[in-house]
Amino acid sequence: MLVMGVDIGSAACKCVILKDGKEVIAKSVIPLGTGTVGPKRAVDEALAESGLTKDDISRVLVTGYGRFVFDGADSQKSEISCHARGVAFLLPSTRTIIDIGGQDIKVIKINEKGHFDSFAMNDKCAAGTGKFMEAMAAILNVKVWELGEISKASTAEVSVSNTCTVFAESEVVSILSSNEKLEDIVAGIHRSVAKRVAALAHRNGIIKDVAISGGVALNEGVVKTLSEELKTEVLATPDCQIAGALGAALLAWEELMQQQ
Ligand code: ADP
Repeated sequence: MLVMGVDIGSAACKCVILKDGKEVIAKSVIPLGTGTVGPKRAVDEALAESGLTKDDISRVLVTGYGRFVFDGADSQKSEISCHARGVAFLLPSTRTIIDIGGQDIKVIKINEKGHFDSFAMNDKCAAGTGKFMEAMAAILNVKVWELGEISKASTAEVSVSNTCTVFAESEVVSILSSNEKLEDIVAGIHRSVAKRVAALAHRNGIIKDVAISGGVALNEGVVKTLSEELKTEVLATPDCQIAGALGAALLAWEELMQQQ
């Protein structure tokens, strides 16, 4: 039997099709957030990848910021429950999840069953989020997915002290005019994000193992500097961005089993 999880975020829409509650048979990520054609494209792409139609899917569960305006689901759950379940499936030793998405940062503590115990979130500010990374990439005239690779060449990290997106943009423009190397500026940006995220994580307290989810987790530079700031290895997987959609599919499966 097949179920689907859909995660409608502020920056990207993700979809996972799960077979028999344990096997991912299709996944999609569309870099368009809620209020766009992103949700439909994410679902269509996952169906096309698996050669299935909507009629083959027994249950659909939606999560994410845009879940209340999606009408193709049987039920909905919060991103916190879904990320908890998804990350516990991908990285079972995780007890603290740091989810960095398009517009927020969440620190979620979970138990061994993938149920969340507590969580903390950043204030309503783009600092340290995916939007911040996108703004920095635009100022530096590179793509957001290139930042991690660029930072690997850094030998002398430049300090970027402003965490506010607007002030950091001006600061980076001024650093650029002082002829610093691109890789050293990018490494400084990663440090600034990692410090901000680590401060939130420490406020809530962390329990090992710590894992990162959300699209920003695809940036190896952020994972590395966050590990340094937290003084513990932060676990990451290439599937970190679909963790919420995967958790939604796992919860859809649980609901389906309860109905039987
Ligand atoms: P949301 O669920 O809030 O829509 P996501 O968890 O999907 O957000 O993360 C989206 C963010 O991830 C983007 O704003 C971007 O900064 C970052 N991102 C997406 N793809 C990559 C990538 N390949 N490398 C680095 N960062 C990425």
